[in-house]
Amino acid sequence: ARQNDDDTESGRVRVAVRLRPKNTEELLSDADFFDCVESQPELNKLKLKKNNWSSESYKFDEVFTESASQKRVYEAVAKPVVEGVLNGYNGTIMAYGQTGTGKTYTLGKLGKDDASERGIMVRALEDIISGASLTSDSVDISYLQIYLESVQDLLAPEKVNIPIVEDPKSGEVSVPGAAVVNIQNVDDFLHLLQIGEANRHAANTKMNTESSRSHAILMVSFRRYVNDKEENTSFQGKNVSNVFVGGHVIPTVRKSKLLIVDLAGSERLDKSGSEGHLVEETKFINLSLSSLGKCINALAENSPHIPTRDSKLTRLLRDSFGAGSARTSLIVTIGPSSRHYTETASTIMFGQRAM
Ligand code: ADP
Ligand code: MG
Repeated sequence: ARQNDDDTESGRVRVAVRLRPKNTEELLSDADFFDCVESQPELNKLKLKKNNWSSESYKFDEVFTESASQKRVYEAVAKPVVEGVLNGYNGTIMAYGQTGTGKTYTLGKLGKDDASERGIMVRALEDIISGASLTSDSVDISYLQIYLESVQDLLAPEKVNIPIVEDPKSGEVSVPGAAVVNIQNVDDFLHLLQIGEANRHAANTKMNTESSRSHAILMVSFRRYVNDKEENTSFQGKNVSNVFVGGHVIPTVRKSKLLIVDLAGSERLDKSGSEGHLVEETKFINLSLSSLGKCINALAENSPHIPTRDSKLTRLLRDSFGAGSARTSLIVTIGPSSRHYTETASTIMFGQRAM
């Protein structure tokens, strides 16, 4: 992937908050609770109300109200990352929040009956496919799940415990054991996503767990074959070089990668109340989300060292939120009801620490 030298803010994570609409339960039987968040989208601020006399206001890069469309969210948060990928930069788009607040809706919604409902994964692939020249570029998909610190393949569910490999020279992270599927059009992709979802459901039923206990990661590898000498020499990226053989320029490949990450639910996981494999789940989810938090904080502070070694999740993300060369967007999702005040407050703080 290219080095993003001209972007002084490149290490910074772009952070958005999205408030989901009230659900039926909240509309019907929430008399004991009140609306604890008030969004001020024109100021990109969010007010969190503990009670009638105490509130706190937080600023984000984007604040989406309950009526924000999927299209708006995509364009504000994901599109810049996707454009980077088409131009040779790696990128990551993540959703963080309590279970039931809209992470999967925001990222993974297929919108089969209504294209306006499509989430970020489908829209990103639409843009990548239309930005690619499919005669000379290639778009490849892997779809993974991390559960109990084991990487599983959602496209080939018999594969578990797949190693994450880092090239010692280039720093490129890959998962060579995972299935890779070449994508030619959006229908191919919708079909794959459905297979992935079905496998995710089946795997979790077999393991007797909820999908909210695992991270789902869509990995899009984009390769552009560059043989125009002019364009080629203008690149500074380390993955591109002119190769002259007998006076001819040999086409070279520019690789970039997009990761779209539907994180495990961030709800406070209390080990004391859990038994058996739930204790393990709890331990590993806490580990990966807290190590993700540390990496994001380090990026926010422009630290030269991003501590990605502590969990599988952050090892996988390593070259896609490397300081200086990749773009990262984080969407934190929250619900409106004071019933979940504590979780909502902690989700907002996770987002704030990334700014
Ligand atoms: P999570 O993945 O965070 O557990 P989901 O994406 O499954 O949450 O959302 C929970 C429910 O709320 C789903 O029924 C989903 O369709 C609905 N929902 C979430 N966000 C929105 C939104 N912005 N607009 C409409 N419905 C939403
Ligand atoms: Mg979900």
